[in-house]
Amino acid sequence: MGLSQGAGAGATGGAAEPGDSGLGDGYFPTSGNGGYDVSNYEVDLKFTPEGHRVDATVEIKAKAERELTSFNLDYRGPKITGVTVDGRPAEHERKGRELVVTPAAAIGKDAVFETVVSYTGTPPTLTNPGLGSYGWNKTKDGALVTAQPDGAAAWLPSNDHPSDKATFDFAITVPSRLRAYANGEPDKPVTEDGLTTYRWHERSPMATYLATVAIGRFVERRSRAGRIQVITAVDPKYRKSLKRVHDTTVKALRWQQRLFGPYPFSSSGAIVDDPQLGYALETQTRPVYGGFVPDEAFIVHEIAHQWFGNSVSLRRWEDIWLNEGFATYAEWLWKERHNRHESTRKIFNRYYRQSGSSPALNPVPGRPGRTEMFGFSVYIRGAMTLEALRRKVGDRAFFRTLRLWATENKDGHGDTEEFIALAEKTSGKQLDRLFKVWLYQKGKPAKGSW
Ligand SMILES: [Zn+2]
Repeated sequence: MGLSQGAGAGATGGAAEPGDSGLGDGYFPTSGNGGYDVSNYEVDLKFTPEGHRVDATVEIKAKAERELTSFNLDYRGPKITGVTVDGRPAEHERKGRELVVTPAAAIGKDAVFETVVSYTGTPPTLTNPGLGSYGWNKTKDGALVTAQPDGAAAWLPSNDHPSDKATFDFAITVPSRLRAYANGEPDKPVTEDGLTTYRWHERSPMATYLATVAIGRFVERRSRAGRIQVITAVDPKYRKSLKRVHDTTVKALRWQQRLFGPYPFSSSGAIVDDPQLGYALETQTRPVYGGFVPDEAFIVHEIAHQWFGNSVSLRRWEDIWLNEGFATYAEWLWKERHNRHESTRKIFNRYYRQSGSSPALNPVPGRPGRTEMFGFSVYIRGAMTLEALRRKVGDRAFFRTLRLWATENKDGHGDTEEFIALAEKTSGKQLDRLFKVWLYQKGKPAKGSW
């Protein structure tokens, strides 16, 4: 959903306004755009290994939230070859990370409109001091997209902010010796003249950073876990780990459904590819692992994000602990369940014994700052916050809070204030002190202070 706070049309007596170039996110002010809400992206992308060339057409279906004379898309990709709005050529201009589109006629408030952007060339690999490479990552036989937090714009003209989620359809055409994967469920591939088109559909709303495309040689395993289709694909160099990654994913999925409630999507799986990214990303339905075979805890973490981060999305990146603290706590719960010498309390205590200046405790997870948004403390102290909550309210209210958070906000959004309010309502306890101390107060929380 767009959260435009810009001047409304009413202020100027109904005259059409341009859309805003950002949504005012505290960490990424130019990510996302105001004035419209996207409902679907239809991505038609052809990949040619020679020259690593992409020829793509992206159709964006959106609803205008006010009358628009022009609007912005986030785009950092290669050369644009055409833009149309509702079938008519539209003026367009690139301004840094923004693509400003001026349709032939103003778009009326509440109108549903279709923008088609075509481009050709090689999408850029981006770098971020905290993460390293992201966006469109080249691999030895293709590419792998990992776009958190603002890298979708590298390959997808989009409203690149998690507050505007949309469904996705992909048609990816590759030479028949290669395969292509994306989010959601596949159609049967179609081959013609040495080229194969792979279609994937993600029917649940998805944040742009969670969209992935994986192109290359892969070996694959499929099965079902109840109603959920599980598809795992690994680069042939990881062939020996295929069964283990697949089976662990299914096991983690079944176990987390008992803890957190019904799995929010209709498919799952994993993609393990060769770029040495050194991280995994919880791309919706099918997490990607960049350059390593994940262990159990890693898989549990990425599967937990399907509830916490993907189905319940952030409204603003400052609340990143709602993703990372929760997924880390799922790892601790897994260890508690599968190792009788381990418990979430013991793990909490080990970190709590560290000095007040430890990177596990600093910066504070509720306000880590843009450069530290994937810092260790967002994960660890974020999970410690949940353990402190569990001790305060007891297991029954704690797990009920997690389940309600996931079910009440399914396919939607949540923020820290809403989570605190839910935990208070579910437990009947005053909890502002606990969250203030654990999320926002610098240094190690003193015993008895929450
Ligand atoms: Zn994570």
